[in-house]
Amino acid sequence: NQTLGELDPEVSAAVDAELARQRDTLEMIASENFAPQAVIEAQGTVLTNKYAEGYPGRRYYGGCEHVDVVEQLAIDRAKALFGAEHANVQPHSGAQANTAVYFALLKPGDTILGLDLAHGGHLTHGMRINYSGKILNAVAYHVRDEDGTVDYDEVQALAKEHQPKMIVAGWSAYPRQLDFARFREIADSVGALLMVDMAHFAGLVAAGLHPNPVPFADVVTTTTHKTLGGPRGGMILAKSEYGKKINSAVFPGMQGGPLEHVIAAKAVSFKVAAGEEFAERQRRTVSGARLLAERLTRPDMAEAGVKVASGGTDVHLVLVDLVDSRLNGQEAEDRLHGIGITVNRNAVPNDPRPPMVTSGLRIGTPALATRGFGDEDFAEVADVIAEALKPEFDADALSGRVRALTAKYPLYPNL
Ligand code: PLP
Repeated sequence: NQTLGELDPEVSAAVDAELARQRDTLEMIASENFAPQAVIEAQGTVLTNKYAEGYPGRRYYGGCEHVDVVEQLAIDRAKALFGAEHANVQPHSGAQANTAVYFALLKPGDTILGLDLAHGGHLTHGMRINYSGKILNAVAYHVRDEDGTVDYDEVQALAKEHQPKMIVAGWSAYPRQLDFARFREIADSVGALLMVDMAHFAGLVAAGLHPNPVPFADVVTTTTHKTLGGPRGGMILAKSEYGKKINSAVFPGMQGGPLEHVIAAKAVSFKVAAGEEFAERQRRTVSGARLLAERLTRPDMAEAGVKVASGGTDVHLVLVDLVDSRLNGQEAEDRLHGIGITVNRNAVPNDPRPPMVTSGLRIGTPALATRGFGDEDFAEVADVIAEALKPEFDADALSGRVRALTAKYPLYPNL
């Protein structure tokens, strides 16, 4: 019955240090968020002890009556939140959700059409050394040079040429909304399935700030920990006709026992995401990203060689383009890290620098919006970032401004 601190001081100290880091810095990695304390609490429950292979009401283990309640709540809430016919809440991660869909609906060697990794796609959308790219014949579409938005004419032309079994719409680093009706039309024109991976923007969909892909797609996958603000994990939504195939691809196809403590936390986060407070938080998220894009495209930023991919944003992130800057992505990431702002370097479309260096930054607002930041705070954050990306900058002064912001919004006061 020892506490973590008593039993394992080394792990405990690292966890405490991580909590302090999250409190004392500005977390702006676009795929991260701060899960509510109740979500963290659900993950630290005795549900972690339970084996529950199978699905609610059809398990391969005894004693599942309580985890059945939890998993059914998660399923019902997910379906209601997104208007889906079928939900599988068991994938351990977003990558596993995507792989399970391929496993359910495709055969090795089938062709998929997904957004190029270097243009904002995800590894699991057909990257050469990812499982998806090794097992499937992956063809990539791109964004247009002129405006950085998805080139739907290219998607149509590639679909006609390669006759994919599935088109994958979704992204990890793309600052605009996708046209799901157009993707559906293209998929239908070649008899392809349409999968939408809404991992990044699921929270915006739940809040009604982004078109919902569910009515258009055969299958929708997501993570539960990005804008959706829940525990680290994945989920698959689908039309009922694919439900059985998807369930058996997840278990027994790819996974063994589900993580019922995480599924409990997913259920809690779906309850949160259905509320008005969540919607208000997503509005601050999008508004903060817009402010960031506006302030990073001021004339003085152009002089410093700083641009914003696609000229702005409709979502929770800004893709900063440093192709014309003396700073590369790695240097810019390090500079912001040095003043207490955490972001990740990211390739921009047609990036001239290598992938470990890059010419871009992906900057997201979800975690700070969860912390309570509003327009005035995001304007200050944007100005701090803008100053830090100029050739001459005062690190001490900028660190002080970051500290003032973190002090204004205490994080996890009860942890
Ligand atoms: N899909 C998209 C679009 C993502 O951006 C990510 C994660 O970055 C994933 C899937 C994979 O999620 P996970 O890291 O949980 O495997």
